[in-house]
Amino acid sequence: MKLRTNNIQKLGKTVYDVLIVGGGINGAVSAAALSGKGAKVALIEQRDFAGFTSQQSSNLAWGGIKYLESHDYSLVRGLCKSRNHLIENYPSRVKEIRFYSTVETGFRLHPLFLWLGAWVYWLFGRAFTRIPRWLSKRTVNVEEPAVNTEKFYGGFEYSDAYLHDNDSRFVFQFIRSAMDRGCIAANYVESLGAQRNEGLWVTRARDVISGEEFKIFSRVLINAAGPFVDDHNNLTGEKTEHRHVFSKGIHLIVPQITQSHRILTFFADDGRLFFVIPMGVRTCIGTTDSRVDSPFTKVTEEDRQFVLDNINKRLNLTKPMTKADIIAERCGVRPLVVKTAGNGTDERDWLQMSRKHEIDFNQANTHISIFGGKLTDCINVGNEVSEIVSGMGIQMLFPGYKWYGEPHPSVREEYIHQAKLMDLDSYTSADSIESLSSRLWRRYDQQAFELLADIREDPRQAEVLIKGTDYIRCEIKLAKHQEMVTKLDDFLRRRSKIALVVRHEDIRKAEGLTEACQILFGEQSKEKFDEYFQGLSE
Ligand SMILES: Cc1cc2nc3c(=O)[nH]c(=O)nc-3n(C[C@H](O)[C@H](O)[C@H](O)COP(=O)(O)OP(=O)(O)OC[C@H]3O[C@@H](n4cnc5c(N)ncnc54)[C@H](O)[C@@H]3O)c2cc1C
Repeated sequence: MKLRTNNIQKLGKTVYDVLIVGGGINGAVSAAALSGKGAKVALIEQRDFAGFTSQQSSNLAWGGIKYLESHDYSLVRGLCKSRNHLIENYPSRVKEIRFYSTVETGFRLHPLFLWLGAWVYWLFGRAFTRIPRWLSKRTVNVEEPAVNTEKFYGGFEYSDAYLHDNDSRFVFQFIRSAMDRGCIAANYVESLGAQRNEGLWVTRARDVISGEEFKIFSRVLINAAGPFVDDHNNLTGEKTEHRHVFSKGIHLIVPQITQSHRILTFFADDGRLFFVIPMGVRTCIGTTDSRVDSPFTKVTEEDRQFVLDNINKRLNLTKPMTKADIIAERCGVRPLVVKTAGNGTDERDWLQMSRKHEIDFNQANTHISIFGGKLTDCINVGNEVSEIVSGMGIQMLFPGYKWYGEPHPSVREEYIHQAKLMDLDSYTSADSIESLSSRLWRRYDQQAFELLADIREDPRQAEVLIKGTDYIRCEIKLAKHQEMVTKLDDFLRRRSKIALVVRHEDIRKAEGLTEACQILFGEQSKEKFDEYFQGLSE
């Protein structure tokens, strides 16, 4: 908590070039890009980093094959390019994965037409991924016996990419990289609104944990509040060309359905693409798409039933999946961009509406609002925001700095070399599905060297601390010092994905959780433990 307390103190003490409101993907990449290029940046997040929409996605970096149907060709080309760029720059965090798609008789489009679409998609992606493959009923029966082929009409396989850890960890890694480059970021600090005074933005901020209020001064204000962008613009009196409408989507996490490490793809009863996504030793299924008016949503009985019915219809399971199989749930709204003057649906069918981002800015007021977007397009958002900020007169000392990407391959080679010399993988837990060396590199890159040093000094640091998970003692120590874990939920749900893959009752009983709380919170450990378990049972 020292990092957070110190950062909050620093927030009120100087004039920043840029203050970013919101620590989801759009705020996180803006912070990483601007601080890497040399601007003096602050970021405040009302909840935890990635604590709202950016923890509820399908974890995919994808070109949006479905937008071909709505003829959004330039969007698909752009997203494919962004996806390729992520795969190239994050070889351990963003990986190519095969989408195994089957179509049932009676579907509105012929499978050969879809097969042609898969080739167009591959070409739009500049042939960067493996080529599409036609699937016969026989092939599907042999390769994916979990797929029900009773009404089989045709099938094909193509590639996109997925975030190996979860979305919120991916977002946090940008926040961490921004902090490493001088950004002062704090979670659980809310903006109560901002006003301009003598050429500066004065933002009223509130520490949500202590209730204390203070002011932050900045030359530029970036509103990256996701579904709350319009609310925050109302607080500051900013008028924009765009605004948001919301589409709700849910996912259910269930025991592992297939070990093939492919994403099974179907068209659900509402005609939308529906995914069965590998999530370590679990499977994530979804999603839904329904228009809602409020960003605050919950999984309803109807949502659950829709997802379970679709799964049971399209898979051969030994027994139908029921609510009892649900380990965890995810639910969020997609902030979709529309013109402020329009009727809110862009006159297109809701399900066909594309999900591009728009950045509105007011040069005179040095104010920027980021609307919509996708995790997939995050590098473009960081670059576009940097250009706009630079055009507002903020001097970037290192304008050409490459602010994204994993460290140079030589750094990884040195890490792997050191890991081999100390036989790190011999510490891999028996339940783990990957080697300890690759897991630590993916999650911490440069910081993984510190973990190697900890383990060399004391081999107990390599022991799994929370039983039933992969997390070892020194990772929890690192999280305490470097990852601004303020509540237990920050660690269990976002820095790690324990709360997504282990049932709530099992987490409470997990051997080692008490010690983990002590490491993370010291004398507040009981309070934080109770806050988490009481909060979730309310
Ligand atoms: C079901 C679903 C599936 C999706 N699947 C994918 C996918 O597979 N791939 C993909 O690329 N995209 C996907 N998306 C889209 C993607 O998740 C979102 O576009 C993205 O996460 C939005 O990020 P954001 O930063 O704009 O918003 P958010 O993540 O919501 O961040 C905004 C932050 O601002 C904070 N905030 C708000 N008001 C204030 C204030 N006053 N003071 C301080 N902080 C404030 C909020 O707490 C919030 O954390 C999906 C979305 C959903 C809902």
